[in-house]
Amino acid sequence: MPIDLDSYGVPLSMQHATLNDLVGAIRVWGVDRGIVANSSSMAQLAKLIEEVGELASGVAKRKPDVIRDSIGDVMVVLVMLASIEGVSVRDCLFAAWTEIRDRKGRMNDEGVFVKEADEASQFDHLPAPKL
Ligand SMILES: [Mg+2]
Repeated sequence: MPIDLDSYGVPLSMQHATLNDLVGAIRVWGVDRGIVANSSSMAQLAKLIEEVGELASGVAKRKPDVIRDSIGDVMVVLVMLASIEGVSVRDCLFAAWTEIRDRKGRMNDEGVFVKEADEASQFDHLPAPKL
């Protein structure tokens, strides 16, 4: 039975895919194409830097389509890198969340993240640095 596709050629069954579904589909895609078996972490790291460069360009030029595409590409490469390293993207994110969730700092109105421990700083009498 043929699979119903949308106008982008994407199966209709993936229209409401969760992040978990997409990570799984991307991992299978990477396995099927030999990326997980035959690429390397260093090669994926180089690819990651390339994609981050595209993201930086999109941000600098205020191009929403490039920003969206680049964030997606960065995440695809991270899924490949995690698969090669044998770690779960979910576990990596969970560990990061566990690490940051209790931090009490806030970004101030000058765009500087001030950690709670630094809020009553000995340098408060000095003018804020120009960024
Ligand atoms: Mg790209």
